[in-house]
Amino acid sequence: MKTNAENHTLSPNFDPLYMADRKLDLVGLVPTYTMPRIRNAVISMQPAVTVHLHFSRENFVYCTVDGDMMCTLRLRCERCLGEVEAILNPIVKLIMKPEFENITEKIGEYDLYEYSGNGLELSNLVEDELLLTLPIALKHKDISLCNSDMVAWLASGREPGNNKETPFAILKC
Ligand SMILES: [Zn+2]
Repeated sequence: MKTNAENHTLSPNFDPLYMADRKLDLVGLVPTYTMPRIRNAVISMQPAVTVHLHFSRENFVYCTVDGDMMCTLRLRCERCLGEVEAILNPIVKLIMKPEFENITEKIGEYDLYEYSGNGLELSNLVEDELLLTLPIALKHKDISLCNSDMVAWLASGREPGNNKETPFAILKC
């Protein structure tokens, strides 16, 4: 879904049911400084996530959200520990489930997303969706892009029978 997401920072809290009843879209930017869980898992990330979410009640009784979001971030290469850029672009298909409602199964391709029922914190929703697509182990696309000295050094530290701390232990500090 390509849109001119404008330089429009979205309101941090909103009522998904209000949005769904009016079939409204949320299009704009969500700042990432309020997303500590993903920030702690990456080296760096863009200051804002581009978001396009459409709210509806057409298909189901419950509020549905369709859309996507995009964010560029930098992760550690598993092979050479250098930085690798990754673009997260999750497709969003959710049913907003107030915590007091008794829905237990996802419907079709829509996953349930539980919230308090009193309004939703947008950055939480965006962070949850990004975390689902965050690669667990990322490498440079080709070994030629890796830092070859580092690859060799790391490999030497992992020789069988080497009981000393590996270079990873140093780098974790
Ligand atoms: Zn690498």
